[in-house]
Amino acid sequence: MFHKILIANRGEIACRIMVTARRMGIATVAIYSQADRRAPHVAMADEAICIGPPPAAQSYLDMARILDACRESGAQAVHPGYGFLSERAAFAHGCAEAGIVFIGPNPRAIEAMGDKLASKRLAAQAGVTTVPGHIGVVESASAASRIAAEIGFPVMIKASAGGGGKGMRIARSAGEVAEGFERSRSEALSSFGDDRILIEKYIESPRHIEIQVLGDKHGNIVHLGERECSIQRRNQKVVEEAPSPLLDEATREAMGAQAVALARAVGYDSAGTVEFVASQDRSFFFLEMNTRLQVEHPVTELVTGIDLVEQMICVAAGEPLDITQDRIRRRGWAVESRIYAEDPARDFVPSTGRLATYREPPAGRSGECVVRVDAGVVEGSEVSVFYDPMIAKLVTYGPDRASAVTAQAEALDRFVIDGIRHNIPFLAALMAHPRWQEGRLSTGFIAEEFPSGFAPIAPRDAMARRFAAVAVAIDWALDRRRAGIVGATRPHPSYAGERAVLLGAERIDVEVGDDEGVLVGFGGGHDAIRVASRWRPGERVWSGTIDGVPSVFAARAILNGYDLAHGGCGSRARVLTRRQADLAALMLPRAETGETKVLLCPMPGLVKAIHVVEGQAVKAGDPLCLVEAMKMENVLRAERDGTVKSVEASVGQSLPVDAPILRFA
Ligand code: ADP
Ligand code: ADP
Ligand code: MG
Repeated sequence: MFHKILIANRGEIACRIMVTARRMGIATVAIYSQADRRAPHVAMADEAICIGPPPAAQSYLDMARILDACRESGAQAVHPGYGFLSERAAFAHGCAEAGIVFIGPNPRAIEAMGDKLASKRLAAQAGVTTVPGHIGVVESASAASRIAAEIGFPVMIKASAGGGGKGMRIARSAGEVAEGFERSRSEALSSFGDDRILIEKYIESPRHIEIQVLGDKHGNIVHLGERECSIQRRNQKVVEEAPSPLLDEATREAMGAQAVALARAVGYDSAGTVEFVASQDRSFFFLEMNTRLQVEHPVTELVTGIDLVEQMICVAAGEPLDITQDRIRRRGWAVESRIYAEDPARDFVPSTGRLATYREPPAGRSGECVVRVDAGVVEGSEVSVFYDPMIAKLVTYGPDRASAVTAQAEALDRFVIDGIRHNIPFLAALMAHPRWQEGRLSTGFIAEEFPSGFAPIAPRDAMARRFAAVAVAIDWALDRRRAGIVGATRPHPSYAGERAVLLGAERIDVEVGDDEGVLVGFGGGHDAIRVASRWRPGERVWSGTIDGVPSVFAARAILNGYDLAHGGCGSRARVLTRRQADLAALMLPRAETGETKVLLCPMPGLVKAIHVVEGQAVKAGDPLCLVEAMKMENVLRAERDGTVKSVEASVGQSLPVDAPILRFA
C-alpha cells in the first residue's frame, strides 16, 4: 500500500479523498492555486504545494507542474478526483512515465471512453443497447437532415467530445436540425476544440440512470447498482439518488450486466460509471462512460456501505477486489443535493463572494437515518469566479425513499449560508414537490415544474398556520427574554392574549394561550396548534415540536421580525398586537424605490453577446446579454417591459461585479 498520495484537485472532492486516505493511514499532499491558499483542502492535507496562479489552465490543469509536485513531495500515487485532469489519458500516461501510480483506470480505457462516438461503437460491439441513431460523424447540415429523417424526430444533436451538457440540443424538425447542427458544431469547436457531431434519437421524457462499476487489475469487475440523476438543469445534475424509483430488479440486473460487459470490453480497472438514458417504460440505452469518480458517488456508498475511494486506492495499488458480485448488498435509500453558489430566483446565475455564515446541519446517524455533508468550504471561505460553483453536497440516508427525502428536507432547513446566494431554497421546494415525492421523474422535471424559474413559495392554509404558530413561539421566547431582563424589578405581564401575525402581506389573527409552551388558536373552525421549543434568540435554526411532531425552521432575524423557511416555503413573519396590525394596514405601502434603470453585471465575467441595441423596446423575460462566468454562460433577461436607453458594455469586455451593462429609459 502507498505511504503518500497527492490529490490533484480542490474543493469538496479533495477533502473527501483525504478523509479516506487518512483513515487508511496514507499521508496526503494537497496542491493549490494562489486563489486557494486558505482553502480547507490545503489545511486538511499533511503537506501542500502551491502550483500556480488562479486560472485552472495555469494550476489544476498544469500536468507538468503537478507531476513535479509528486516528485517534490515523494507521493507514490495521484488521485485526480473529478473534472480537471481526471479524464485526460495524457495525464495517466504522464504519471506512468514518471513512475507515479494514477489512481484511476488505465489510459487505454480513458481514451476508449473519452469520446462519445467511439465509446458508442465499442458499446454496441460489446452487446450494450445504444440509443438508436447513426454511429458515425455527421459531416454536413444536409447529411444531418437526412440522418435525422431516417432516425425519426425528435433527435438529439451532440458533440462527440462533449461533456457537462455542452454542445447538445434537441431538434424536432428538419429546420431545427439544420440550425442546431451548425450551432452545436461551432459550440463543440470552441468548447472542446473538436467539431465532430453525432445524431441520435431523442428519448422522450427521459430519465438518467447510471451504473457504478468497479474493476481491478486482475480482470475482476463488479457493479454496485444504479443511481438516478434525472433532476437536471440544462443537462447538468442537481439531485441524485440510489436506488432509482423506476427500476425493478430485472431491469437493474440487465443494466448492471451491460455495464459490466462494457467495462470488461475496455479492460476497466478502477471505479467508473456507465450512464444510460431510460424511458418511462424502462427500456434503456447507453449514453457514455465516465472513467472517474463521480460527483454523486456518495449515494452509492450509503446504500452499499462500500467506500469507493478506498476501493480505487486499493485496486490502483494492485490489490484484487475483495468484494464479489453476490456479496454486494444494497439497503435503504440515499438522496444527494448539490449545493451551488447561484441565485435560484435570478435564473440561477452564479454568485461569488465570502461565506459570511456557513453552518452545516449536524452530520451523523440518528435513528435509522444518516446525514453526510461533503464540503470544500468553511465559514469565511471565498467562492471565487475561477472554479466550479458547487460548494457542498448534502447526502441523506433512510430505510426507504420517503425517510431519506424527509431527512434531506430537514437537513436543508438546518443548513445556514449567508454572504452569497445559494440554491438551498430551491432544493427545499423541490424536496416538498409532490411529483418528486412520487418519484415521477424525467430530465425535464425542473423545466416543466418551474417553467418561469424559481420564486420562493409563500406558505398557505395549514402550512401558513404552522408558520404563524412558530412566529408566535419565537415572539414568545423574545418576550420571555425581555421578562428575564426586567423581571427582577417589576412583574412581567403574561404573553397570553390576542395577536396578529403578518406573513408577508397576509394577516392571520391568533389567540395565544401561555401554558406548557405556547397554544395558538386560529378561530374559524381551525384547530389550535401547540408549539414547544428550547429555541433561544440568536439561534439560526428553530427546532421544536408542533403538536408533538418534531419540526425545524430556518429563522433569520430581520428588521422587525423573522425570515422563516420550512418545507420548501418561506416568508417574512411579524407578530403584532391586533391594534398595531390595524394601524400597520393603514400605513401607505412604501413606494418601490428599488425600481432599477440599470442592468448591472451580477458576477465578474466576460460579455459574450449583447442582444439589444439602443432605443430597442424589450419585454419582461427577453434576453439582454450573455455573460460567461464560472464555466457557465448566463443569459441576463429583462425584469420588466421597457426601452433600452444606452448600452454601456461591449462584447469581449471583462466586467467586475455590478458594472453597468445597459441603461433603460
Ligand atoms: P458528474 O456526473 O460527475 O456530475 P460532470 O460531467 O457533470 O459529471 O462533471 C463532474 C464535475 O466536474 C462537475 O462538477 C463539473 O462542473 C466539473 N468539471 C467538469 N469539467 C471540469 C474542468 N475542466 N475543470 C474543473 N471542473 C470540471
Ligand atoms: P455529458 O457528457 O454532457 O454528460 P451525456 O451524453 O451524458 O453528456 O448527456 C447528458 C444528459 O443529456 C443526460 O443525462 C440526459 O439527460 C440527456 N441526454 C443525452 N442524450 C439523450 C438522448 N438521446 N435522449 C434524451 N436525453 C438525452
Ligand atoms: Mg454524462
